[in-house]
Amino acid sequence: MTIVLAAAEFAPFAKTGGLADATSSLAKGLVNQGHEVICIMPKYGIIDTEEYTLNPTFLTLNVPMGMQTEYAHLLRYDGGPKKPTYYFIEHDMLFNRQGIYGEDSEYFDNDKRFIFLSRAVFEACKALDITPDIIHAHDHHAAFCMPFLKKEYVLEDRFHSTRGIFTIHNLAYQGKYNPYRAMDYSGFGMKEYYKGSWFEHYGTVNSMKVGIMFADKITTVSPTYANEIKMHYYGETLHEELNTRSSDLIGVLNGVDYDIWSPQSDTYLSKKYDADSLIDKDFARQKLIDLARFSDSEKPIIGMVTRLTEQKGIDLVMKKLDYQISKGAMNFALLGSGQPRFVDFFKLIKHKYPSQTFVVIDYNEELAHTIIAGSDYFLIPSRFEPCGLTQMYALKYGTVPIVRNTGGLSDTVTEYEVANGNGNGFVFHNYNAEDMEYAIERALALFGAKDHWNKIRINGMRGDNSFEKSASQYTKVYESAFVN
Ligand code: ADP
Repeated sequence: MTIVLAAAEFAPFAKTGGLADATSSLAKGLVNQGHEVICIMPKYGIIDTEEYTLNPTFLTLNVPMGMQTEYAHLLRYDGGPKKPTYYFIEHDMLFNRQGIYGEDSEYFDNDKRFIFLSRAVFEACKALDITPDIIHAHDHHAAFCMPFLKKEYVLEDRFHSTRGIFTIHNLAYQGKYNPYRAMDYSGFGMKEYYKGSWFEHYGTVNSMKVGIMFADKITTVSPTYANEIKMHYYGETLHEELNTRSSDLIGVLNGVDYDIWSPQSDTYLSKKYDADSLIDKDFARQKLIDLARFSDSEKPIIGMVTRLTEQKGIDLVMKKLDYQISKGAMNFALLGSGQPRFVDFFKLIKHKYPSQTFVVIDYNEELAHTIIAGSDYFLIPSRFEPCGLTQMYALKYGTVPIVRNTGGLSDTVTEYEVANGNGNGFVFHNYNAEDMEYAIERALALFGAKDHWNKIRINGMRGDNSFEKSASQYTKVYESAFVN
């Protein structure tokens, strides 16, 4: 099949979190499945064009935006044979900035930027003479691809048989826009389409709803999250729409790119290791200890690499971390950035326990690898977690995850049973600090325990969450979109 993936982020070009890792590994996985894969994203000012050469195609796109036409150029990155091809939409006024979604705050014109991206995808296909079987749009930024396909481009021969797939990576971010602007930019028109239509949601144009309602098939990034979001608690006001589309909503667990996230291939490790040479994880551990200057290297290290937002369960950590560290039984390493109240808390903890804590408020790819590889445990107490990639990375590195039982965490981490040696981590169920604390205590009790300590880590390392697996499931979703 010819598959066009449209998204605001693909790694390594532009990344704020799991979306970029998920889209780029899906692209690779689909190529390995034998598909022709074209990835389309904006050409942001932050893309490192010295590292990644973007070649001009000399193609100009005429992109209708309501009554106006915007012009863009198309750049190309060629990853080589058997790799996806990347195209970048170059429109300096909209995308040549130092952020993806904003800098200090969200850009005021994200409605225009992402409606433009969605429409430019079709104009790029035309300019490149591509006839896609599938247009697969990721998250609300590319959601307008779905109505553009169903209401406009389906009328053109090229897109007549094209199916639209929409993937929800995180339902909490919905792209809610002023209806007058959004209906104008999209060209659908306020008068003609808005009232009572799939565009309207509590007085706004809600891009996430638009993607959900217009797509042929909707996927989300884990089977458990696919069920959760149909409930009021997790549905972020869209549970009714998701129930309406329930028969077309499928959970496909994200896949990991083990070329980047595995201790056998990680370019940041001084010594590579795997389940048969677990002793060599000590090199990664020592690197973290040296960097963190922990005074007692014998103590277990609990790591976190995370956005500092409510989603990630930081409130629970704030309730218990001080007490846990004060008992002197652990070291703690955190890399993260986000909300000021969380940032202040971790800075305070660092100040209070300088030789037991390592806190870096930043976004740093190498340090993320160093903490995930070098820690003994990895804490993810999320309130909700669509998929979560870091627990899957941690498992591969023999770093034992401690997680809340939600979304993709629930699909990938199982409680270790001392009685039979099954399980790969520690799991708590209620969103409650005491339950998290108890899970941490269960985990620490096993640190270095004869037989069990190796068993639990090897169980995790031998698991397979590769992108090949998820790409083959996506292929089935694509095929199912042609049935009926
Ligand atoms: P989410 O997409 O909700 O942030 P995921 O677990 O799916 O969570 O993906 C997070 C990705 O972002 C991982 O690749 C993780 O290593 C990376 N990441 C998160 N915070 C940072 C940070 N401060 N520095 C570097 N990488 C980070």
